[in-house]
Amino acid sequence: MPIEKFSREKVLSVHRWTGNLFSFTLTRPAHFKFSAGQFARIGLKVGDELVVRAYSVVSSPFDEKLEFFSIVVPDGAFTSNLQHLKVGDELYLEKIPYGFLTLARYQLPLPQDLWLLATGTGLAPFISMLQDFDTWTKYARIYLVYSVRTQSELAYVERIQQIAATFGEGHGGFRFIPVVTRDPDAALHERLPVLISSGELEQAAGAEFNPATTHVMLCGNPQMVDDTRAALKARGLSMNRRGEGNIAVENYW
Ligand code: NAP
Repeated sequence: MPIEKFSREKVLSVHRWTGNLFSFTLTRPAHFKFSAGQFARIGLKVGDELVVRAYSVVSSPFDEKLEFFSIVVPDGAFTSNLQHLKVGDELYLEKIPYGFLTLARYQLPLPQDLWLLATGTGLAPFISMLQDFDTWTKYARIYLVYSVRTQSELAYVERIQQIAATFGEGHGGFRFIPVVTRDPDAALHERLPVLISSGELEQAAGAEFNPATTHVMLCGNPQMVDDTRAALKARGLSMNRRGEGNIAVENYW
């Protein structure tokens, strides 16, 4: 990967959520424009080699900084180095963003109900979308569903509450629905496809999937994306192709 395709950016902050989950912010160069939901390619020098990985942007397109949410992949060449990141370090940022998990991709059905379904670090693009006023003006109802294994992995909950208070003021149609799969005491603890097939997820949201009005975005574990897509199709929803259809997806790794 030619190094000229990258700019060098400084680490401004690092926040550790758990032993293997952390977020960091980088300086944002003026040329780096993106839409909420897109990802950046970040490079790290490992010896002489530039190792590059894709990361969805957490921050809004209007932020001065770029924020990212990462898991430490055991023995991963990239994240096992990245986890030692400190303020002041430098990372490489590819100059252009990528990805089609953006609300602009939807033409039909017209926007009305938006379901954002994430597992783990797949939450990132949805935090970006929720910090864009366009999302709140387009959709009458927004359901953010976030599945993690344990309570301690529920990162960004306070931030979600702040976003809902700031952007959702007077909106009234936002629900945050956490799912904690390895905690039998959690209000919702089955995997997303099970919750969809049983109707439990809709019950928790107080809403139903409707092929004529619903947009659903999935991001996270690739197996979750496949299984959830199948469960949604069984409920009559269709994949979004060339602008039409209900379901848009992004595998996170
Ligand atoms: P995860 O295994 O993806 O689990 C997060 C949530 O997704 C849990 O609630 C889990 O439920 C659920 N889930 C898993 N498979 C599912 C499926 N087929 N259908 C529905 N829900 C499903 O955990 P993670 O901590 O976010 O990631 C685990 C591993 O993935 C990491 O250790 C890493 O190796 C890899 N990963 C790699 C990257 C990368 O960029 N290379 C990024 C993220 C993660 P259960 O509790 O029932 O499993």
